[in-house]
Amino acid sequence: MEDAPFVNVCIQPHGVKEALQRLQTASERAYLCSEGFLESVTQTINIAAEIKLLHAQPHEEGFSDGLNRLLKASESQRCLAFENIQWVGEIEAETQRCTQTTLIAENALSQLETDSSLTIAHQEREEYHESFYNLFRLLQDAIITINQECLITQFNPGAEVIFGYSANEVLGQHLDILLPLGSGESHRRHIHDFQEDLQDARYMGTRQTISGKRKDNTLFAAEPSICRYCENGQFVFMVVLRDVSERKAREAELEFQAHYDHLCSLPNRAYFNTRLECVQKRALQRGAPLAVIFIDLDGFKFVNDTLGHKAGDELIIAIAKRLEKCVRSGDMVARMSGDEFTVLLEDISGLEDAIQVANRILDGVRKPVILEGSEIFVSASLGIAYSPDGVETPEYLLRHADTAMYHAKAQGKGSYALFEPSMERLFQERVDIENGLRVALGRGEFRIHYQPLIEVKTGQFAGVEALLRWERPNQSQMLPSQFIPIAEETGLIVPIGYWALEESCRQMEQWRRERPLLNLCTLSVNMSVKQLQRVDIAERVADILKKTGLPACNLQIELTESVLITNLQETIATMKRLKALGVKLALDDFGTGYSSIGILHHIPLDMVKIDRSLISQIEEHHRMLLVVKAIVALCSALSLKVTAEGVETQEQLAIIERLKCDVAQGYLFAKPLTGKEIAEFMDSSAPASIRFLNSASNDMPKVLPRVA
Ligand code: C2E
Ligand code: MG
Ligand code: MG
Repeated sequence: MEDAPFVNVCIQPHGVKEALQRLQTASERAYLCSEGFLESVTQTINIAAEIKLLHAQPHEEGFSDGLNRLLKASESQRCLAFENIQWVGEIEAETQRCTQTTLIAENALSQLETDSSLTIAHQEREEYHESFYNLFRLLQDAIITINQECLITQFNPGAEVIFGYSANEVLGQHLDILLPLGSGESHRRHIHDFQEDLQDARYMGTRQTISGKRKDNTLFAAEPSICRYCENGQFVFMVVLRDVSERKAREAELEFQAHYDHLCSLPNRAYFNTRLECVQKRALQRGAPLAVIFIDLDGFKFVNDTLGHKAGDELIIAIAKRLEKCVRSGDMVARMSGDEFTVLLEDISGLEDAIQVANRILDGVRKPVILEGSEIFVSASLGIAYSPDGVETPEYLLRHADTAMYHAKAQGKGSYALFEPSMERLFQERVDIENGLRVALGRGEFRIHYQPLIEVKTGQFAGVEALLRWERPNQSQMLPSQFIPIAEETGLIVPIGYWALEESCRQMEQWRRERPLLNLCTLSVNMSVKQLQRVDIAERVADILKKTGLPACNLQIELTESVLITNLQETIATMKRLKALGVKLALDDFGTGYSSIGILHHIPLDMVKIDRSLISQIEEHHRMLLVVKAIVALCSALSLKVTAEGVETQEQLAIIERLKCDVAQGYLFAKPLTGKEIAEFMDSSAPASIRFLNSASNDMPKVLPRVA
């Protein structure tokens, strides 16, 4: 062998066999060098011995010669030699045994150490290159390098997908192409700052979110990670960038859900409360005034119940927009729930400012809203809690504003009220009613009173209307107007309404059995829209009739006009199901606000009850008399009977008689009476003010109004 043997080394235990084989191949210039001197001496010696055996004599010379040659070899040769190295080992023990070449060996050893670590670094770099290349190719994140002039020098496939450009389109282009207009300058400055600081390669990016610009000019949220290193004497900036727009959108959505109302996009209750706390603290520190306005829509429940939830939602959105326009940009408008809104007024000079905003809100809400093609009018009741020096706590401010709002409602709606301590009582009363209603049925606190219905033409007793009363322990009797709205809001009207129906049917049937003359009399019972909306309403009514034994033809159900505007087809179907039972249907309170005369001929009705507010004016207002006359004429044309509600005077009775109203009801005949009283009334032992006369046919008692 011409050059063999050259270097003799100990071999790392792994791959010993292969290494030996390679050493045997004389033509191959393979050298093994150290990789870390980690192997144990024993191993080293053993392996060295094996190598010796394998190699031709004289081993030592060959070994030192090899080392010698290696050391003497020019830089390029050594490089070449080391590039071929695949296995590394430890040569220390072996070289020390080569007495002639100790010095050389030591030199060689140190040289080899350096070179081998270089080799390894080189090797590692190669591996890294490959790994990086794979990363560059496969990573879904964008990897972009730019030079000192901010020109793009590398653009990986991930960047192509994210930005929508092919690499060819952007290589050599200015970084600005990937950035939203106007933001390039700050990036350039950033890069420039780092160029000033000519230190080594370093990580320089924060994980701040920036905006990237796609080829189609759309922007997206991106999280960059930037580093700088030197290549061929030039700084290279590498940006690894991730499109986080989806994540950001999700985060924003969660953030939005936590702080804003999903329907109208106003801040929600939680956000309002947080803000109120901050604002109140600030106001307290500065001794500055602040105000909270609580807003509740007056007609919202009606719209929701009648036009349906979709229209209700539209109304909320429209009102929310208007409210925002009524305040300054820094004031917060929030939706607390349903139709309740709040306004937080900071930096006001006094109460007058809050009142001014309240008036703007009242005016703003009053304007008609177009819903499903028709103009809807609603109003709002507002409560103002004003703190001149920020002393009141957020909790109190909100509660006081709410209390004042209830006060405004009680005053007649469509107005504002300023909180006063005495109002707390009113608020407490409402809370008491709500709590009381929840247990009233179970405790048997409801009663039914009955008001007679009189046939106008004959003056005969035609039946009764059942009217609910609530007798609370140790309290005065409560009228429906005080508790029915709350019962409707809470849904408690449904069980209460069924109870009233069953109780009055049972009572009526008992009277009928006891008094055959009442055979043709009608029991009229009010039914809430909440009950009518129940899918099983007809079945429930049928059950009650069956249970109580009252014939269906003796029952008349009174529905208010509000039931007619919502889901008309569905309502008509329900009404038909009720009528199919043999029950009569009356439209109550006709003429109050939402009347639609045109709708009368669509619905299966037997009776229209003209509201007291119309009847009370027929004496004095000729126009109202004409209205009532027209209603009666229309009903007559549609074969509907007419009841005049709230007849209080002889004159009114005379007029409705002339107008040919069928039935009259009112204090002129009797106020609503207890069961016992109405039984006496029926038995001709009515109050002295009412006279019963037997009709000629002697079939029904005749009632004449009291003489004033
Ligand atoms: P409504 O059905 O229109 O009943 C007539 C109301 O007018 C009764 O008031 C009655 O006392 C009153 N009224 C009758 N004649 C006169 C009169 O000549 N002058 C005056 N000033 N008032 C008269 P009430 O009993 O307070 O009932 C108010 C409303 O509460 C009822 O109006 C009805 O809508 C509702 N309501 C009563 N009971 C029930 C019930 O069991 N269920 C439901 N859902 N609502 C009921
Ligand atoms: Mg009624
Ligand atoms: Mg009525």
